[in-house]
Amino acid sequence: MYDKIAYLTFDDGPTVYTNEIINILNQYQVKGTFFIIGINAKRFPDVIQRLKKEGHQIGNHSYTHDYNLIYLNATNFINELELTDKIIYNLTGQHHNLFRFPGGSSTLMATPEQITGYIKILQQRGFEYFDWNVDSGDILADNADQIVNNIEDQIKDKTIALILLHSTRLITVEALPRIIILLKTYGFQMQPLTKGSYHAHHRLSN
Ligand SMILES: [Zn+2]
Repeated sequence: MYDKIAYLTFDDGPTVYTNEIINILNQYQVKGTFFIIGINAKRFPDVIQRLKKEGHQIGNHSYTHDYNLIYLNATNFINELELTDKIIYNLTGQHHNLFRFPGGSSTLMATPEQITGYIKILQQRGFEYFDWNVDSGDILADNADQIVNNIEDQIKDKTIALILLHSTRLITVEALPRIIILLKTYGFQMQPLTKGSYHAHHRLSN
């Protein structure tokens, strides 16, 4: 039994980097969670099928990732959610009712009232949403060292680490083996997210 659990989550893919991320995870026998964008899934359908086949978790991260479209109104939000759900279903034969809000549930691109409404929409459709409690900072980092350091700073005091990473930069791929070793050194077991896992919500859901 491990008392420390880490969830590695990779947003915004699939991209040209996703296959290498999967290779590294497989090499270390670690399962990750991939919050994918519908339009990218259409570009890299084989990567979605590979994720499914190799036992990694897939989550829904909207269709366009365009804040101005997704958060404009409920109709758009539902449309983005359902389009991506359909793409994932067609590629994997399963619905994957895990969701991450583009920008997180604390995004300033929507009002708190809007987010509350969108959370209800998710709940009505059987989706659970996940934020994070460790931000790797990989989007703004200059190099892999910074990513590893950011994570180390934030995991020291935690027994559950839900880690935000992205599929969009080479430095994240470069940092990944070191992140896995770091987490193991600190005694974390790495697992894929599932319904009922730790959600790390940035807002209360009701
Ligand atoms: Zn994103």
